[in-house]
Amino acid sequence: MPISASPAFPTGTILGYPRIGRRRELKKAVEAFWSGTIDAADLERVAAELRAATRNRLVELGLGRTDSAIPEAFSYYDQVLDTIVAVGAIPTRFASHVAADGTLDLAGYFTLARGEGENLPLEMTKWFDSNYHYLVPEIGPETVFSLADDRIVREFVEAKAAGFLTRPVLVGPVTFLLLSKASDDAPVGFSPLSRLDDLIPVYAALLTRLADAGAEWVQLDEPGLVSESIDVPRADTLAAVASAYGVLGRLTGRPALFVAAPYGSLDDALPVLAATAVEAIGLDLVRGAVPQAAPGLAGKTLVAGVIDGHNIWRGDLTGAFAAAESVRGLTDTVAVSTSTSLMHVPHDVGDETSLPGSLTRWLAFADQKVGQVATLALGLESGRGAITAPLAEAEAALAARRTAPGVHDGAVRDRAAALQGADFTRGAYADRLIAQDVALQLPSLPTTTIGSFPQTADIRRARAQFLNGALSADDYRDLMRAEIGRVVALQEEIGLDVLVHGEPERNDMVQYFAENLDGFAVTENGWVQSYGSRCTRPSILWGDVSRPAPITVDWSVYAQSLTAKPVKGMLTGPVTILAWSFVRDDQPLGETARQVALALRDEIADLETAGIQIVQVDEPALRELLPLKKKDHADYLDWSVGSFRLATAGVADATQIHTHLCYSEFGVVIDAIRNLDADVTSIEAARSRMEVVREIEAGGFDHGIGAGIYDIHSPRVPSVDELTTLLDTALESIPERQVWVNPDCGLKTRGYEETVQSLHNMLAATRVVRERR
Ligand code: GLN
Ligand code: ZN
Repeated sequence: MPISASPAFPTGTILGYPRIGRRRELKKAVEAFWSGTIDAADLERVAAELRAATRNRLVELGLGRTDSAIPEAFSYYDQVLDTIVAVGAIPTRFASHVAADGTLDLAGYFTLARGEGENLPLEMTKWFDSNYHYLVPEIGPETVFSLADDRIVREFVEAKAAGFLTRPVLVGPVTFLLLSKASDDAPVGFSPLSRLDDLIPVYAALLTRLADAGAEWVQLDEPGLVSESIDVPRADTLAAVASAYGVLGRLTGRPALFVAAPYGSLDDALPVLAATAVEAIGLDLVRGAVPQAAPGLAGKTLVAGVIDGHNIWRGDLTGAFAAAESVRGLTDTVAVSTSTSLMHVPHDVGDETSLPGSLTRWLAFADQKVGQVATLALGLESGRGAITAPLAEAEAALAARRTAPGVHDGAVRDRAAALQGADFTRGAYADRLIAQDVALQLPSLPTTTIGSFPQTADIRRARAQFLNGALSADDYRDLMRAEIGRVVALQEEIGLDVLVHGEPERNDMVQYFAENLDGFAVTENGWVQSYGSRCTRPSILWGDVSRPAPITVDWSVYAQSLTAKPVKGMLTGPVTILAWSFVRDDQPLGETARQVALALRDEIADLETAGIQIVQVDEPALRELLPLKKKDHADYLDWSVGSFRLATAGVADATQIHTHLCYSEFGVVIDAIRNLDADVTSIEAARSRMEVVREIEAGGFDHGIGAGIYDIHSPRVPSVDELTTLLDTALESIPERQVWVNPDCGLKTRGYEETVQSLHNMLAATRVVRERR
């Protein structure tokens, strides 16, 4: 039971707020700490300033200062990593960083994320259907759980000292274990969820500490409950919910508990949660409908997540208010919040100075969404009459958007409507294989890279100067060509078989295309965290998409002119362009994807005509957009795979299509990957030590597979031995004729020194294996 009679839940709140800083201050400080230019105390100071700025800003925007409305949800790197550290679940390979009292300093904390020497970092994977990546906990029968880190308590106390009563946010225990993988030494079939009873006492201890420090409400995020994509039987998940929240609910002297379920509907987990003593439940009403009544629900606060935390549209505020109001049918105590943490959206539309005015009016970033929550909370408290003006303004903006020029382009729509089945299908694979062998003459185990080479400070400076007018278009082109020349020469020197131009002209693999296609807008400061200190700046896809002119052709043709080896053309696929942009919400995604696919199809045709023999169409986000509910999979796979095929099916048999997928969980999309019908698919396999290669082969895949043996997500240089072992492992499950050798992702975030060494090692390993065969 909570300390006192349950304190009232704030009528308006958000599940979380961007942590990276309005100008990416945290990213800069963390990277400065890594490079040794600032020390841990400096980094902690920057982080404390950011937390303070966030609290002040949220109050300014209308959240309560002392009613637990402000989530205390900071992280230096990742909230799942924070939980790993809090519960002491640190894999034994990092034991040397753990102090005698079980704590880990900041340097040690980052080591789990980045690896060190022979010690691989924790695996990283996507957080539900977002483009945020978390670090995967490794849990085994031997993992000892203990309350090892109380940073969340310290941050709560820090807020309190500054006059704020905030609401600490933790990853809930069930989700934590659902997202964990069995540690390497665990027996086959071991399920991390089986350790729930050992984990719960640590959560209990942490909740008690928070209550002692004065926390009235604590938020436990349980998105694991809405997802069906997790390989745990649903009955086990539900039993875990009943057990975990049964125990935590009965705990004496605890804070009131708010269990939030972002990214989807709770479905059958809702009655289970309703039967426990938790005081508040958060429903994602953007993704799910208002649920049925359930025993116990009427006594709880229901937090209606009606403001979309996952996109940047101002949206239908009137509809959101109606949804929140309809929750009143389930309980007397209704509050309003965002559907998810706002960490998926940038800070503030007000920071944008170059967006068209009409677009600005259609948008809501984190700060505007907090304002919307405050408006709806006022409506819930004082009645609709109190908010008629803001509702009317939002309605007017929505109406203007529907009829704005560019939102509907007749030519684009006519072309999409006229598509036939044949537009989606290439020649038979067997014929393509022969035609490509003849055209390309590649050795066995061909080597290549994923596309980008390190983006040096010089490249970024040149781009900045070009953008601010200090560099002419001709000078910029010459500098980029010089870079392409260096990258081509380097690849020849290393001995790669299929070359790339290195993508120096691209700020980002999606934004670059967005800037060159009609229907998109780009932001100046719209950064969102992707993983750790890495941020992306998603473009805004607001209108019908078309290609005014060729985009990549000149660069690829220039690179090809420098070498006799084939240079891959390099494009980003339609699904990824959608996944990593903020996409219009006024038509089905599949329709938007087709428009993008047609623009790419024209680009590929132009590359082919210009003599490019291999085109890679990256789809790293194919898995990420997979809906969390199985009932939605078929429709998604149909349009996503269809759009890739539409983009690529126009080429001749002899033209080789590659794709690159950046993740390591293929099970559910294996059929989709086969249906892409790409000639070569490169995957991220290093961190899972080729597990995924086995999965893919088991799925009956007979096209080329680029085994990503060099893990580019950390600066570590893999040794020749290690790479040889990985390649051998891949060859144990895939026939040699299918295997390509490559890094597991693009090299743009790496430095040259480690890249060159690693690629040399990759080639050396390939030679070792080729000679042995
Ligand atoms: N071609 C891209 C690159 O190399 C692919 C990046 C990605 O998959 N995220 O940078
Ligand atoms: Zn990748």
